Amino acid sequence: MPRVKKIDHVGIAVRDAEAAVRFYEEALGLAADHYETVPAQGVKVAFLPLGEATLELLEPTGPDTPVGKYLDKRGEGIHHICLEVEGLDELLGELSARGAVIGSGAAAPGAHGSRVGFLHPKATGGVLVELAEKGHEPET
Ligand code: ZN
Repeated sequence: MPRVKKIDHVGIAVRDAEAAVRFYEEALGLAADHYETVPAQGVKVAFLPLGEATLELLEPTGPDTPVGKYLDKRGEGIHHICLEVEGLDELLGELSARGAVIGSGAAAPGAHGSRVGFLHPKATGGVLVELAEKGHEPET
């Protein structure tokens, strides 16, 4: 029954992902292992694995993207928490019926070949929650 498996990553909105990566690497000894641009979300992301979870640094690809607007309004900071789930489509359907899903309720392409949906902060206690189902591509 538990379809929510773990905290997959914490997303941090930054203006300059490269500079932010430098800090986390030099000051905290983490190492970015993956960079990716996700056009569907309008972000360039850098992933820094940390135990079972990952820090995801998000730099918007433009001002008119969700993260670009977030930075405009609130400045840099924690943008979302991502939970890894199984059965994403079914879960989004149920959560849509509760009015908790942002957008159409259909999953969108995420990083790492995952599929994602976002829950409204009004439903979750003020936190943007990303639900991600991992892709099944072979590890490289
Ligand atoms: Zn994320």
